[in-house]
Amino acid sequence: MTSYVAAIDQGTTSTRTMIFDHSGRVVAVDQREHEQIFPQAGWVEHDAEEIWSNTRAVAAGAIAKADLHTTDLVAVGITNQRETTVVWDRKTGKPVYNAIVWQDTRTDRIVTELGALGGGQERYREKTGLPLATYFSGPKIKWILDNVDGVRERAEAGELLFGNMDTWVLWNMTGGPDGGIHVTDPTNASRTLLMDLDTLSWDEGIAADMGIPMSMLPEIRSSSEVYGKVRAKGALAGVPIAGILGDQQAATFGQACLSPGEAKNTYGTGNFVLLNTGTEKVLSSNGLLTTVCYKIGSNDTVYALEGAIAVTGSLVQWLRDNLGMIGTAAEIEEHARKVEDNGGAYFVPAFSGLFAPYWRSDARGAIVGLTRFINKGHLARAVLEATAFQTREVIDAMNADSGVPLTSLKADGGMVVNELLMQFQADILGVPVIRPVVNETTALGAAYAAGLAVGFWASEEDIRSNWAKDKQWDPAMDETHREKQYRNWKKAVTKTFDWVE
Ligand code: ADP
Repeated sequence: MTSYVAAIDQGTTSTRTMIFDHSGRVVAVDQREHEQIFPQAGWVEHDAEEIWSNTRAVAAGAIAKADLHTTDLVAVGITNQRETTVVWDRKTGKPVYNAIVWQDTRTDRIVTELGALGGGQERYREKTGLPLATYFSGPKIKWILDNVDGVRERAEAGELLFGNMDTWVLWNMTGGPDGGIHVTDPTNASRTLLMDLDTLSWDEGIAADMGIPMSMLPEIRSSSEVYGKVRAKGALAGVPIAGILGDQQAATFGQACLSPGEAKNTYGTGNFVLLNTGTEKVLSSNGLLTTVCYKIGSNDTVYALEGAIAVTGSLVQWLRDNLGMIGTAAEIEEHARKVEDNGGAYFVPAFSGLFAPYWRSDARGAIVGLTRFINKGHLARAVLEATAFQTREVIDAMNADSGVPLTSLKADGGMVVNELLMQFQADILGVPVIRPVVNETTALGAAYAAGLAVGFWASEEDIRSNWAKDKQWDPAMDETHREKQYRNWKKAVTKTFDWVE
């Protein structure tokens, strides 16, 4: 009998279930989008109950599409949008508020106040590897406790649970109020601003700073082990849940970046470059995050340096949904191909402030260099180039932190079908950009973590040998031109500073 592994990928815009065979090939996928809720400028929410209902639907959908029985699945892994924060009642399973999404900047003031306790933005860097920023979960939990009626009392009475989306989905899959398991993995926990990177445990001092009761926090287990089985009801009933990785760490794993010095860039809603630094925790002096890359069972923890960019693919969505300038995301490339270059226009999409390497919540978006000459094609180019320039900035920071220049970049995610972008990326980096055959590296990484735990894959060597190249783009731009454009970009970035007081 042939066996398979499933992965649940609870992403920012959609939830999907994918089923993989032993060679890492996709056998079936089912996907559902969920609503993006924007209650006011800078706020982004999701309905956690909608996400759970979509999760159930796509799990059933993928099994039906693959024409499999639940018994054909040996394990299921979970990967998820990181940092997004949900707080719910352990007895009823009801969230007390919508999930606050990673892009949400409402915790701006909380973050400034925490910094004012001493240490500023660097207050928790040494312990957590992170700057104090609106991006992470801890301040989002504090916001819910401070602002939703009665919630602080209920939390202090031990009635409420916190989770990122991995924990929310896992708790529900394992029974919810009837025995749901409340756990997370170190990759997700390392994005809360609450976990000590050395001990992989919650830091009581930081939790106390933020007024977060320890009883709300899930148990931190490894990224690859059997946590429990799917509850008796539903499509995956009885299947062991055996892997959890935050989406970017999952993509790093799925791209087989398993040795120090190997890096990938995922081009999705935002862009996320992760460089495997092995068992060594490298603290950044150049605006990058230090994060857990993965922890397989009882093996040593593997760390990564990360360049997180908030807005890349979502700028293309914004052009489609807010401006109606394109009908589909793919049209952006058609428009961009009608012109030779950006005509001097630069688009800095600082919609959620700027993440790496700047970490400025006071920044807001800008289009600069406009003249009467600029047309739709130039703007389309500027939109795509923004992704490549932002990537160059975090790769420069990585080269500076690690002291070892990157020699090639593995790419994945929804935007890598855009060949103009891939070529421009290679041009602006000056190193080759490589796309793998299986581009669904996030789900694949979660499947690998789960499959390793149950012995479906024997070792990391299996993962390495499953990886195969689809296409490579080599740099073709001369250096003078490249550096001139990059200088212009950097100048454009400075125009976005100081917009929010
Ligand atoms: P996520 O997992 O973050 O939800 P995906 O990896 O599915 O995102 O990527 C979706 C993103 O890719 C969207 O923001 C979309 O605008 C962008 N995208 C999809 N197709 C293209 C394309 N042909 N050119 C440019 N961007 C694209």
